[in-house]
Amino acid sequence: MGEWSSARVWRSRVYRYRLIAGRCRSCGRAHYPPANACPYCGSRDLDEVELPRVGRLISYSVVYATPFEDRDRSPVVIGLIDLGIARLVAEVVDVKPGDLRVGDRVEAVFRRIAVDGNTGLIVYGIKFRPVRVG
Ligand SMILES: [Zn+2]
Repeated sequence: MGEWSSARVWRSRVYRYRLIAGRCRSCGRAHYPPANACPYCGSRDLDEVELPRVGRLISYSVVYATPFEDRDRSPVVIGLIDLGIARLVAEVVDVKPGDLRVGDRVEAVFRRIAVDGNTGLIVYGIKFRPVRVG
């Protein structure tokens, strides 16, 4: 069974198709993806909250060498995205690195993130793309 086994995909499905974050009842901060303990204060008293789908790009990195076997394109843009109540790291698609600016508005989209080499199962996940104006 590979990392993307169907059971694992099934368990994590709701988290992949919706932007469900963990929210800490102790310190009030949200984190994504949901963890067993709050990454800020260590509390295990956690709630869940759905994140907004539009946010702003805080910073980004352009990655020219990727470890993914199914990569057929390069470079890949990895962005730190502020969704208001939480920040997350995700791939930014549909844009050339040179056209991206810190502060750009970005929105969540579903895209292929991995293909299991054994089963051929395609896993979709959340990526972000710039919000086009007009
Ligand atoms: Zn906390």
